[in-house]
Amino acid sequence: VRTIRLDKMLSHMGYGTRSEVRKAVKQGLVTVDGRPVKDSGMAVDAGTQDVRFGGERVLYREFIYLMMNKPPGVISATEDARERTVVDLLSPADAALQPFPAGRLDKDTEGLLLLTNDGQLAHRLLSPRKHVPKTYEAKVAGSRTVGDADVQAFAAGVKLDDGYVTMPAELEVKETDEGPDGRAISVVRLTIREGKYHQVKRMFEAVGLKVVHLRRLSMGPLVLDASLAPGDYRELTEKELRLLQ
Ligand code: URA
Repeated sequence: VRTIRLDKMLSHMGYGTRSEVRKAVKQGLVTVDGRPVKDSGMAVDAGTQDVRFGGERVLYREFIYLMMNKPPGVISATEDARERTVVDLLSPADAALQPFPAGRLDKDTEGLLLLTNDGQLAHRLLSPRKHVPKTYEAKVAGSRTVGDADVQAFAAGVKLDDGYVTMPAELEVKETDEGPDGRAISVVRLTIREGKYHQVKRMFEAVGLKVVHLRRLSMGPLVLDASLAPGDYRELTEKELRLLQ
């Protein structure tokens, strides 16, 4: 049986701070199995007991796992004094469970972002020793297209501006287009198994090219749902969650 303190449960589910919840309980707004309760510290079985706040059924759950298609222009943090964050895009009920982004994308980067309040799962995914693969689609501009020499350089490891040599990464060229002005554009897929600061952008800088658009497609077994418009999100499916365990 999974029991939890009533005030903790209500606070966790977004019904206010512990003291606000205690006040609501005193006012008789909270019922358990149909009866108003007086003791906000009572233990309830969140799985089987009927808890209501102002008549509304409170469905408790501890963890939340969200897949977001991060739009450009928002930062992957939980709060910021000036900038809009990915958490600002969540419904109040989802934000109440206090999910945080498991891994960061740059402000201008789009694509797959996992938000969860499950710290252990986040740690397993992000631990540098786990080498979880992350695949990006990048649009790369420069005086030449991306070619075999770059594929080989990325497979061997490239030296970043701070001297760090990257781990072997898979680069696949999808499209190339050479403009009349000598400016070339390539669309590529890159899979890396680490996450240094601005890593993808800096890897292309190391070979003299510039990332002009970046989107994450996958992270470990998790693949961006193509039906999610930028800024949209959904809960992970049971199957996705199992793959992450
Ligand atoms: N690499 C980058 O340069 N930026 C990101 O947002 C992710 C990976």
